[in-house]
Amino acid sequence: MDSDKPLKRPLIIDVKGNSLDDGPGTRSVVFFKGCPLDCYWCQNPESKRVEPELLFDGEKCVGSGECTKACPEEALEPGRPLRVNRDRCTLCFQCVDVCPSTALERVGREMSVEDIMRKVTPYKPFFKNTGGGVTLSGGEPTLFMDFTSRLLKRLREEGIHTLVETCGLFNFESFTEKIPPHANLIYMDMKIVNHEEHKRWCGVGNKKIIENFLRLHQMWQKGGVEIKPRTPLIPGITDTDEKIRALVRFYKGHGIRRAALMKNNPTWLNKFEKIGVKTDIAKESPMREFYDQKRFEHIRKMVEDEGIEVLES
Ligand code: SF4
Ligand code: SF4
Repeated sequence: MDSDKPLKRPLIIDVKGNSLDDGPGTRSVVFFKGCPLDCYWCQNPESKRVEPELLFDGEKCVGSGECTKACPEEALEPGRPLRVNRDRCTLCFQCVDVCPSTALERVGREMSVEDIMRKVTPYKPFFKNTGGGVTLSGGEPTLFMDFTSRLLKRLREEGIHTLVETCGLFNFESFTEKIPPHANLIYMDMKIVNHEEHKRWCGVGNKKIIENFLRLHQMWQKGGVEIKPRTPLIPGITDTDEKIRALVRFYKGHGIRRAALMKNNPTWLNKFEKIGVKTDIAKESPMREFYDQKRFEHIRKMVEDEGIEVLES
């Protein structure tokens, strides 16, 4: 029986098995929907809003016309590919039910803690053999602190290693009470050190994020849960020499000895179109390319020369 009935449940985008990119070993990743930040380069743009969304993948569309007939709002304009009129769409998802090729999908479904447990526990032997476990990602899992806490607790009861990926914008007292007691590892993004630049590119300033990071880092040093800072390298935005120098000064100034750098991965860019969101990232932007290895080595050297160990991912 589910034990989380009174909890405010988040919408879950996906529970993905066999990930090798989201922490140690082979992992299952739970993607939460909703985030307090609005990063220009967000690689999961479908995770920003807490509400459900309609995703349309034109490449999967077989032109059956079933969805057009099913839509009560005449929001689907026939053609190859189909056109979704987002102004008319009321998110009833009747079109999703009749689409024969999963070209139309609902993003975000309510799941209970036990629903998620049923999805991840079959992977336990893989977690055990590879030193893996379950990663809570998003979006932002701490937007739903009680739910996240209960899920982490259940995972640990099953002997599963737990990792929480967070943007760092949360109430510190609530976080420390509910998350670290059940987490083995925390990854926190340190996107841009300058407050105004952070506000410009991520929609909010970073004072609270930095304060939270430093307090958690201090707790780790005193025997608390391990925290790993990570910086996504976004060409021309987070990866300029000036911003990397500021990041290194910040780390050195606070005794942080190891940090991760994550290379920009352009494969997510077509997600914008699929959820009907316009982006002004130019066709010739380096954000549309895989990250330049020479640039990465240059940045790695800048960081390592200052005595900070660089972790990849
Ligand atoms: S914090 Fe992460 S999920 Fe949230 S908007 Fe930024 S990149 Fe996207
Ligand atoms: S979600 Fe509903 S209103 Fe929107 S396109 Fe599909 S059937 Fe039409």
